[in-house]
Amino acid sequence: MSKNYKITLLPGDGIGSEIMQVAVAVLEAIAPKFDLSFSFEAALVGGSAIDTTGHPLPAETLAACRASDAVLLAAVGGEKWDKLPSHLRPEQALLGLREGLGLFANLRPAKVLPQLIDASSLKKEVVEGVDILVVRELTGGIYFGKPKGIFIDENGVRRGVNTMAYTEPEIDRIGKVAFEAALKRGKNVCSVDKANVLEVSQLWRDCITNLSADYPSVKLSHMYVDNAAMQLLKYPKQFDVIVTGNLFGDILSDAAAMLTGSIGMLPSASLGVPNSPGIFEPVHGSAPDIAGKDLANPLAQVLSAAMMLRYGLNELAAADYIESGVMSLLDSGKRTGDIMSEGCQLLGCKAMGEALLSTLD
Ligand code: NAD
Repeated sequence: MSKNYKITLLPGDGIGSEIMQVAVAVLEAIAPKFDLSFSFEAALVGGSAIDTTGHPLPAETLAACRASDAVLLAAVGGEKWDKLPSHLRPEQALLGLREGLGLFANLRPAKVLPQLIDASSLKKEVVEGVDILVVRELTGGIYFGKPKGIFIDENGVRRGVNTMAYTEPEIDRIGKVAFEAALKRGKNVCSVDKANVLEVSQLWRDCITNLSADYPSVKLSHMYVDNAAMQLLKYPKQFDVIVTGNLFGDILSDAAAMLTGSIGMLPSASLGVPNSPGIFEPVHGSAPDIAGKDLANPLAQVLSAAMMLRYGLNELAAADYIESGVMSLLDSGKRTGDIMSEGCQLLGCKAMGEALLSTLD
């Protein structure tokens, strides 16, 4: 009997619906090959939800997400809603979704594709073969630790305070996500911290080291964050999975992503506790400058769907199939404008989707 998955679709704003249509068509096309079926339910989020309901994350949308096996999101935002008070802006929906679904792990792959190697700002020999997954803790650390605020001391001097704090269970659960992800990839985890200076990092290192005993087939190393920043630029091929806290992960995941140089190709995943729905979405925004013009690259959205299969639904063969389809499509020289290079064939979003479907066939 085929497995059925309930997927909530959140196309959001800007190019969202154009790229989502391609991802859904791809999922529908590959489903029978892997004895899968999908029940898709679209819901409103971001600016389009504000226009219809007055709120960027309507209660029905959150309820639909909670009741699904996974959530496929495109992007939210646009100038039209930029002047609203901050609690009513489209981006609030993303925070509400993370909180509402308890998503504590952010997974950002940075894979340099041979066909797009010239898009990187680094030398070809440095980035060739780079395939990194940054696992960032998303709901703890310095962004949430207390006390926080700007205070006035007894001398009338203003003092800004944030607190970097992690508990053992918080570190263990993000560590598990990283080790489990490594089992599905290169079986290598590098934990990044600042344990030479910060006590919170000493606890982090201790917990991750203890956890590694449960994963004997995964090789664990530790690196200080300043060195990790240098190594990402100097010799990025050494990394498989990088696991780190909220602040370090925020910075390192952007740096790692830019090794690839192409924003229209980058997917991401946010995960909560096992068996709860994760969110899978491109790294890029709603690209209002090209919305409705059939110019968007749909591949980050398609690769987000592949991440959904791999990390959300554990359908590894189906994920591999989509990813290799994307590689074949690029091999055939088909490109959207953002990744166009000499000698390639320029296609719009829709035609790129159709070309991918024939490749997958
Ligand atoms: P953006 O990522 O939307 O666009 C940056 C540039 O990259 C633009 O030139 C755009 O045309 C291009 N681009 C992005 N995705 C592309 C794709 N798939 N194919 C081809 N080109 C692509 O970032 P921005 O312009 O800073 O933000 C636009 C809106 O998106 C803002 O309202 C912002 O708040 C929002 N945003 C949302 C998310 C999200 O939903 N997760 C993330 C970032 C920005």
